[in-house]
Amino acid sequence: MNIANAAVSLSALQHNLAALRALAPASKVLVVIKANAYGHGMLQVAKCLQQYADGFAVARTNEALTLRQAGINSKLLVLEGFFDEAEALILASNDISTVIHSEQQLIQLETLRLPNPLDTWIKLDTGMHRLGLLPEQFTALMPRIEACHNIQTKPTFISHFACADEIEHPLNRKQIAEFNDLCEGYDVEASLANSAGILLWPDSHKDWNRPGISIYGISPQIDNTGKDLNLLPVMTLQSNLIAVREHPKGETVGYGATWQAEQDTRLGVVAMGYGDGYPRSAPSGTPVWVNGRLVPIVGRVSMDMLCVDLGAKATDSVGDRVVLWGAELPVETVAKAVGTIAYELVTKLTSRVRLSYIK
Ligand SMILES: *Cc1c(COP(=O)(O)O)cnc(C)c1O
Repeated sequence: MNIANAAVSLSALQHNLAALRALAPASKVLVVIKANAYGHGMLQVAKCLQQYADGFAVARTNEALTLRQAGINSKLLVLEGFFDEAEALILASNDISTVIHSEQQLIQLETLRLPNPLDTWIKLDTGMHRLGLLPEQFTALMPRIEACHNIQTKPTFISHFACADEIEHPLNRKQIAEFNDLCEGYDVEASLANSAGILLWPDSHKDWNRPGISIYGISPQIDNTGKDLNLLPVMTLQSNLIAVREHPKGETVGYGATWQAEQDTRLGVVAMGYGDGYPRSAPSGTPVWVNGRLVPIVGRVSMDMLCVDLGAKATDSVGDRVVLWGAELPVETVAKAVGTIAYELVTKLTSRVRLSYIK
């Protein structure tokens, strides 16, 4: 029995990419597969979407190198760019595109000797204030960028939203306007929209869109689910009941004895814990799907197991399938109960959880 596993639907991945393309038909798509494709398996996701995507984005050079070495020949962009000259050399030698977000990176490229110029994406800080060139800095550095022998002519301009998932937030309009201003007058390609940009901000659709979370069928917003956005959940995290126990009123369960039964009931023990990446912070009451209904977690999540209250009249048996999140129970709902975002839940699964791929 392949207990505690995650099934990844390849057809759902393809559906989601097509749905996102339909929302922005004029834009090319760089599918974001950083952090092991948000926990879904970077190589398998890349192979599944290779023929439909215009390229892939990752955060780090080692992620891009893994893709190249596995034979992925799509366009690959490293969103954080390189940190030193050795890394810049790896990018150039493997035909990997880079972001430049600082003058320090530019100085390195001005002095380095690379085998070929880099496809470079100039990161503009339009309000996120994490990485990127501020407008004045951009204006000052652009002549040097255009003159740099290690940068291909016509870099792409890229910026990132801070609050695109919040439809009311005034920063969104400001960032779009700022980005448009900075691009004005340059004959280059541009990229602004992440998932929330694609779904909520049509004005942010530029030459390249960069969907991450939505590709996996998950909403970037906190108050809805992928289903509301015509997306299909890709990952189903599942396990099985390994014990069903009579549990008398007044007795507690688990470490710290944090939960006490208010009446006689039956508890199910599920082979899933924080050693699998299921959050230990999930409080009693967090929903779990068993045999067509939602039941609450009771007591603390432990390393290898968690307990659920099946109810006094439960007929569930050892071996029955349990879904922690997936088609039966949106990961967004679990994230809300836990007080985090679905991005974190899917990304934190550990290597003990076997991923399997379904056509
Ligand atoms: C992670 C990331 C994305 C994807 O964001 P989602 O919200 O997952 O769609 C896009 N662009 C950049 C720069 C990122 O770091």
